Amino acid sequence: MSSFHYRSDELYCEDVSVSRLAEEFGTPLWIYSKAYLLGQLRQIQEAFAAAEPVICYSVKANSNLSILKAMSEAGSSFDVVSGGELYRVKAAGADTTKVVFAGVGKTDEEIRFALESQILMFDVESEAELDAIAAIAGDMDVVAPIALRLNPDVDAKTHAKTTTGKKGNKFGMDIERFQELAAKVLRDSRLKLLGIHIHLGSPILTTDPYAEAGAKAVEVVKGLRAAGHDIQWLNLGGGFGISYRGNEGLPASAYANVIVPAVKAAGCRLALEPGRFIVGNSAILCTQVVFTKREGGKLFVIQDGAMNDLIRPAMYDSFHRLWPVKSTVAMPDLVESEIAGCEKTDVVGPICESSDYFAKDRYLPPMQRGDLLAIFSAGAYGTAMSSNYNSRPRATEVLVDGGKVTVIRRRETYADLIAQELLEE
Ligand SMILES: *Cc1c(COP(=O)(O)O)cnc(C)c1O
Repeated sequence: MSSFHYRSDELYCEDVSVSRLAEEFGTPLWIYSKAYLLGQLRQIQEAFAAAEPVICYSVKANSNLSILKAMSEAGSSFDVVSGGELYRVKAAGADTTKVVFAGVGKTDEEIRFALESQILMFDVESEAELDAIAAIAGDMDVVAPIALRLNPDVDAKTHAKTTTGKKGNKFGMDIERFQELAAKVLRDSRLKLLGIHIHLGSPILTTDPYAEAGAKAVEVVKGLRAAGHDIQWLNLGGGFGISYRGNEGLPASAYANVIVPAVKAAGCRLALEPGRFIVGNSAILCTQVVFTKREGGKLFVIQDGAMNDLIRPAMYDSFHRLWPVKSTVAMPDLVESEIAGCEKTDVVGPICESSDYFAKDRYLPPMQRGDLLAIFSAGAYGTAMSSNYNSRPRATEVLVDGGKVTVIRRRETYADLIAQELLEE
C-alpha cells in the first residue's frame, strides 16, 4: 500500500486523514510519510549492498532537520553542497566522517569548516579549487581527502537546467584535465586522492547513462592505480528518477544492476548521492482552493499554494500530479487522459507571475472554494527551494509516522518575514 492513498474517497497519509491535518495545521501544508522515506532509503541500501555502499543522501533535495535525523538514524550519510548544509547535518546530530562535499564554488571558509569536520572527501571540480583546498589543508596541517569530479560527457537526456555530466556544463572536468590534476595531487603531500566522482544530472529514468559512466570510471580508476593512487571510492552521484506521472520510475535494483558490476570491476567501494529518489514521493503539498473562475474560455482553480512554496513547475516545467483530497472520482493512473466527470482545469497560485501554476489543462473533478487539493511528489526540491516571494510566510511541515504526527517546521509568521531587516534611522 502506498503511503498516500484514498480510503472511502478521502486521502490519507499512512493512518492519518489529510483533511484532519489541514484542519489542525492550516494550509498550505507539507505532509511527509516517514515510512515512505525510510522505505526508499532501505531499497537503495539493499539493492547496492554488494558494493559496500555509503549512501550520502543529497541534503539539497530536502534539508529539514528531522528528515536529516531520520536519514542518519537509518544509516544514511550525506552529500552537502555548502557550509550551511554541513552545519545542518551536524545540527541533526549526524556523523560527518562519511560526508561528501560537492559544488563548483566552495569558499575558503567552507573548505576550512569541512576539514575541521573531518568529512570523508571533497568532490573537487577545478584546479583552482584543488589549489585552495591544498593551501588550507597545509595551513591546518592536515591531509585533505579528495575525489576529482569527472565530466564523463554522457548525455543523461534530462532537462537542460538539470543535466550536469555533458561537455560544456560548469560541473567537473574533462578526462585530460582530470589526469593532469591527479598527477598534481600525487606530488602534493597536503592532498590525497581517494576516489572519482561523477554526477550526471537529474532526474534520469534510464540506466544507460550510469552504465556508460560506470564503464568510463572503471578505466579511469585502473589508470589512477597504475600511476600510484590508492583509489578506494567510486562515487556515481545521484539523479535516479521517480514517478511523477504514473509508474515511470525504476526500482533501485535496476540502477544497481548496471552500477554494482562497475564498482566491482573497479575494485572500489560505492558512494551514492541520491536525493529525489528518497524524498521526492515522500511528501504532498496540501493546499486549499481560494476561488475558482472562468476567463478566456478556461477554468482556473486558484488555491493558496504558490511558486514560492513549490517552484518546480515554474522553473523546470515540471509535472506534478494533483487531485482533490476528497473526491468521489477516483484518481486515475494516467492523469493526462480525459476522465468522465472531470473538466480541463488550470491550477494556479495567487502570485503575480504567469509562471505561478501547478497544472495546465489538466482533467480534474469539479472544485469549489474551501476544497482541499493534494499536490503529489512534492518532497524533493520543494521546501528546499521555497522562498518568501510576495511576502508569503513559508508553510508548516508535518511528518507522519503511522498514526503519529510531528510538526517538523512551524509556519512562519508575518513577524518572521521582517525579523532580519533593520530600519534605516
Ligand atoms: C543535486 C545533486 C545530487 C542529487 O540529485 P538527485 O536527483 O536529487 O538524486 C547528487 N549529487 C550532486 C553533486 C548534486 O549536485
